[in-house]
Amino acid sequence: MKAAVLYEGTKIETREVEDLFCESKDVKIRVKSCGICGSDIHKMQTTWKYKYPATMGHEFVGEIVEIGRDVAKYKVGDRVVCIPFLPCRSCNYCEQGHYSMCENYKMIGTHLSGGFAEYSVIPESNILSIKDLDYDKASFIEPLAVVMHAIMGIKVEIGDSVIIFGAGTIGMLSLQVVNNIGTRKIIVVDIDNEKLKLAKEYGATHTINSLEENLQQKVNEYTNNLGADIALECAGSPITQEQALLVTKKRGKIAYTGIAYKDVTLKEEAFENIFRKELTLKGFWNSYSAPFPGREWLNAIDFLITGKVKVDSLISHTFSVDEVNKAFEMILNKKEKYNKVLIKP
Ligand SMILES: [Zn+2]
Ligand SMILES: [Zn+2]
Repeated sequence: MKAAVLYEGTKIETREVEDLFCESKDVKIRVKSCGICGSDIHKMQTTWKYKYPATMGHEFVGEIVEIGRDVAKYKVGDRVVCIPFLPCRSCNYCEQGHYSMCENYKMIGTHLSGGFAEYSVIPESNILSIKDLDYDKASFIEPLAVVMHAIMGIKVEIGDSVIIFGAGTIGMLSLQVVNNIGTRKIIVVDIDNEKLKLAKEYGATHTINSLEENLQQKVNEYTNNLGADIALECAGSPITQEQALLVTKKRGKIAYTGIAYKDVTLKEEAFENIFRKELTLKGFWNSYSAPFPGREWLNAIDFLITGKVKVDSLISHTFSVDEVNKAFEMILNKKEKYNKVLIKP
């Protein structure tokens, strides 16, 4: 089969590789659509846990073309999403159902062959049906489950004012989920006016370009000088990681989901806010809870099927499996603007 193979640092090429073998409890799927995740780039650049050659891609969906002899719940032809996380199910955290905290997990697209390939082999326990949801839309299930994990975890309530940092994929999905809860205000912060315009279309009540406007002043203006009840940090920048501490209301809550790409140094005011304002800071990683894979996943599928979350305008580019290197080149050289990039093997 054809697969895009990472063979050194950020170098990737599409090769003919050996077919994957489907064990008794596995299904083999023909990959139909696979998103490129910010974490793919991060892991390439930090040579994280890859054992070369590696086939990345963990946000994918496809059609079952073969099933192992003990597979009971699925059949050939079923349309499914891959749940890329394989918890050990025996460590302290797994025993408590905190699968995202597993000490010995494996990940499809990191430790095991992923979705930037024609086919993928996945344990039956790591797929869910997507019914007749469009494949490209369904490739957003994994990032949307990540968003659900944070929003369900930080407990956004009806009437809250929410500020979202970053209008990339995670920010835009968060915005739409929050908008479905019945929040009073949703303020989206970014430095790209085009993305902010899209945020308005997706339901933001206010947007702030933090390069052009005074962030704290604007947030005060939009929140009766109180600050936001909840801040969702989805940008993964040391600047926004600090800004979240400056615009959250007394006794408010902050959810951190973005990767720290650099050291985060806080000014005095930001740190003082944590205790003077009795802020609650919570981090969220991945998307899993008990029973595996968790309600995050069921909610993500449901929100996409029912159209509560729309993703069409978030897809900026699609590439074939032969062009995976081009897709990463485009992202890494940063000359062209992009949003979600999909690989369609
Ligand atoms: Zn991802
Ligand atoms: Zn475990």
